[in-house]
Amino acid sequence: MAEKEKCLACKDGFNWDDDIVVVDEELYHKDCVTLYPTGYYAFIDEELLGETDNEDGQMAFEILEEGEYEED
Ligand SMILES: [Zn+2]
Repeated sequence: MAEKEKCLACKDGFNWDDDIVVVDEELYHKDCVTLYPTGYYAFIDEELLGETDNEDGQMAFEILEEGEYEED
């Protein structure tokens, strides 16, 4: 069974319908990062994480394997 993926910001796991952004192949809840529309760099508070390619966020189940997120 796959290991649960966790948001690097809040250390919580992902529910199947959580919006996720991917930054340098790391996963974050969309709500845990601040997204600036200038090329879409993601920040936690003032800390720059990097550029993201899916600034609109995608649902966890679209990105993660089954078992890596919480089912309802
Ligand atoms: Zn989070």
